[in-house]
Amino acid sequence: WSPDSPTMEAGGDDVSQVSNERAAYKIKGYFDLAKEEIAKAVRAEEWGLVEDAIVYYKTALRVLKEGISISVPSYVTSGEQEKVKSYRQKILQWQDQVSDRLQVLSRRAGTASTSQVTASHPKTAAVSLKPSNPMKNGPRNSLQSGRNTALMGIPKEKVASSKPVQESGGGYDAKLVEMINTAIVDRSPSVKWEDVAGLDKAKQALMEMVILPTKRRDLFTGLRRPARGLLLFGPPGNGKTMLAKAVASESEATFFNVSASSLTSKWVGEAEKLVRTLFMIAISRQPSVIFIDEIDSIMSTRLANENDASRRLKSEFLIQFDGVTSNPDDLVILIGATNKPQELDDAVLRRLVKRIYVPLPDESVRRLLLRTKLKGQAFSLPGGDVDRLARETEGYSGSDLQALCEEAAMMPIRELGTNILKVKANQVRPLRYDDFRKAMTVIRPSLQRSKWEELDQWNRNFGSN
Ligand code: ATP
Ligand code: MG
Repeated sequence: WSPDSPTMEAGGDDVSQVSNERAAYKIKGYFDLAKEEIAKAVRAEEWGLVEDAIVYYKTALRVLKEGISISVPSYVTSGEQEKVKSYRQKILQWQDQVSDRLQVLSRRAGTASTSQVTASHPKTAAVSLKPSNPMKNGPRNSLQSGRNTALMGIPKEKVASSKPVQESGGGYDAKLVEMINTAIVDRSPSVKWEDVAGLDKAKQALMEMVILPTKRRDLFTGLRRPARGLLLFGPPGNGKTMLAKAVASESEATFFNVSASSLTSKWVGEAEKLVRTLFMIAISRQPSVIFIDEIDSIMSTRLANENDASRRLKSEFLIQFDGVTSNPDDLVILIGATNKPQELDDAVLRRLVKRIYVPLPDESVRRLLLRTKLKGQAFSLPGGDVDRLARETEGYSGSDLQALCEEAAMMPIRELGTNILKVKANQVRPLRYDDFRKAMTVIRPSLQRSKWEELDQWNRNFGSN
């Protein structure tokens, strides 16, 4: 672990800056990071690389210690305090287990150094990770997955000898596991639920389908079993990606953020394997959400020039997805987002049972959006002007409005001319309605009416609401 590791972003800012609602997230960040180190350690043990394992366990301990020492301001809400408490408890438990394991290994390291020679190099080794069944094994916790038996007190020899080190049918490529854990698992709570303006229907559906079921798995069984496939569709720039990110930070699921490029570019030829590994990890770390942004780019209707590789990728995805949906105990939810739902393959569409329309903002949502965009600024607009602007920006998408505000905010700056270098920040004049009128001549709605009507129509035919 190094300070510039990407996962540190979630918990990397100064302790004194931990704000009310972020304390628990921050601790969770450390917790997740430690889990990863432990997973690596366990893997190293499986290969018989005792010394590597010791290094990973030590890092994990250090991260856990840092996590537990995060100070939480006294004014946080009681709900937040509860969360913090439960993470701290978990961390304490893990600290004990890791310390125990470290002791055992350190004792062995001296005597068993010769046995390491027989283990193959990690690059060529394949790990056979057995997905756990959380319904039987207790709550989600990667310590409980089959691969972590070493940590649960089973003698190391037993674990190591049962794992074949070369690639085999059930084996998973360690490189891919690593790549998924670092590049695809998203643990940066970048967007909060409240940041997304409007979209109440979509939010409600996501709440029922994803957030609540991952928090209360006990309640959402049988008839209440949530649908496993969900599609967010609608014109570009209205918050589909944002909503999915909010789900990631709001739900307690492991969030896999898959983009078409992560499945294709670098991993040509390995894409299917990657998909298999992805689902395997998703099952072992469930509840999980697999989010595929721009899903049309990998799951579109079979085009004439579609090559074998992309067809195989698609089939593999469907097979794997059917696998998780057929097991009532698994909670792996697939969320796709697209602005071209018409181009989706029928087979894919059939599996994305719930289809949620994320439309262009209507007047009231535009008003809300304008207000929130202007809120954080040192300038604001009289309420009447905001209402007027909301009325006049019909056809603007969320991102168009964002661009409009940015353009308008530049107007007072441009007037300064060469004085800009001398003026004090609080001397810049506030924004006026006119700035927005002028900006509207530059920033036009980015969507043609016909496109958006086409999407409306598609929603009437195939949408869930
Ligand atoms: P695309 O189909 O092009 O991927 P999208 O629907 O995923 O578009 P987002 O990336 O979620 O669009 O939104 C783009 C930007 O527009 C956001 O970063 C945000 O600034 C703004 N925005 C759009 N809709 C909303 C909203 N409902 N609330 C707040 N901001 C929004
Ligand atoms: Mg998007």
